[in-house]
Amino acid sequence: MNRILALLFPPKCVFCQKLLKENEEHICDGCKKSLKYCGAPYAAKKPYYEKAYAAFHYSGAARSAILRYKFYGFKSYADYFAGEMADIWENAGIKADLIVSPPSSRIKVFKKGYDHAFLLAKRVSEKTGVPAGKALFKTRRTKPMYGLAPAERRANVSDSIGFKGDVSNKTVLIVDDILTTGATASECARTLKNNGAKEVYVLAATAKK
Ligand SMILES: [Zn+2]
Repeated sequence: MNRILALLFPPKCVFCQKLLKENEEHICDGCKKSLKYCGAPYAAKKPYYEKAYAAFHYSGAARSAILRYKFYGFKSYADYFAGEMADIWENAGIKADLIVSPPSSRIKVFKKGYDHAFLLAKRVSEKTGVPAGKALFKTRRTKPMYGLAPAERRANVSDSIGFKGDVSNKTVLIVDDILTTGATASECARTLKNNGAKEVYVLAATAKK
């Protein structure tokens, strides 16, 4: 079955979309050489989380790839991005008890057929062994963050996130696709801390700096 699928849909590079050679997985050798990892922990201004990590800068080929993943049905990219994210998390050397993702709009998830942030969370969970759960949910509708100024982003998500479960005294990792101003991640962290979480970290596939 996999061979038939591979014939019908030959795997292409996540970044440049060229057909992959037999020895290449997820990305081509050319893109592998020119990858720009995000490197150092990403610091937002006074967020409720301790630190944020990201695999790639939100620019160039990584930006195009994460947008294809988020909006255009390239669901299979989750595996590649989660692999890079899991490596970064393991290098950070922090022990998390639980992985969560910012809540997505149910209508959008239904239309798209997958929850982009939670799918990444599940894949990172499989690779790191840290359990993932849908602990956060939306308590009201929010506008799309795209095009909003930082203050508008904060207002848009303020008090919009609810929590179910038990995180008391736990270290929680929020997994997301794109970290922009950190407003959503910070609001998620605030909710988690109000519910007793000890520490909250963020791990994104891409981040603006
Ligand atoms: Zn490539």
